[in-house]
Amino acid sequence: MTERPPIQRAMVIVAHPDDAEFGCAATVAKWVAEGITVTYVICTDGGAGSADPSLTVAELPGRRAAEQRAAAAVLGVGAVEFLGRPDGELVADLALRRDLTRAIRRDRPDRVVCQNAVRTYTNVHGNHPDHLAAGQAALEAVYPASRNRLAFPQLLAEEGLAPHVVREVWVTGTERPDHLEDVSDFVDRKIAALLQHRSQMADPAQVEARVRGRLADTGRPAGFAYAEAFRRLSAE
Ligand SMILES: [Zn+2]
Repeated sequence: MTERPPIQRAMVIVAHPDDAEFGCAATVAKWVAEGITVTYVICTDGGAGSADPSLTVAELPGRRAAEQRAAAAVLGVGAVEFLGRPDGELVADLALRRDLTRAIRRDRPDRVVCQNAVRTYTNVHGNHPDHLAAGQAALEAVYPASRNRLAFPQLLAEEGLAPHVVREVWVTGTERPDHLEDVSDFVDRKIAALLQHRSQMADPAQVEARVRGRLADTGRPAGFAYAEAFRRLSAE
């Protein structure tokens, strides 16, 4: 038996600016501290995420992109790609799958983090259509499109992007997580990153209290001060 090589690169694929910070930022900070290179792909422009009547649809995407870059910088995330789809209109179509396949073949992550693609009937908020679409398209890009050399043939023929096998997928926001990541030493970094999303924070203190409470609840069964929860899939 040969030892598996360590995970060197991870990619987080989410629908909106701030989804990665809510879902997995403490884990991302931990991975960066372990020497893993992390990149983000944000599928939408976040242009619908404001109740502030003084903000126009034209202004918000630029602001949210800047906030997302600032949050990524706090965490040590190497690069952020914005696919720029309209917020609230994300569909897991072939164009999105192709764009995510392109990103995976370019950055060649060993591990992909994505959002839950499964509809729930336990609460309405778990069914944001953009989150479901981003999760579905990410899984479909991981398998089989990224590894199949004849999928989206222009990626190889015109862009020189060779097939790539992602080793594992970590899914956020699932009803039945099977892994609790101990992030007790990284919760402060998560909060600092989250608070960069100023346009989304009417009451930052309340957001911090809510997020700390949720991570403490998540960690309790495992005896961790704070944890983030994932469902992990082998993709090899
Ligand atoms: Zn979202």
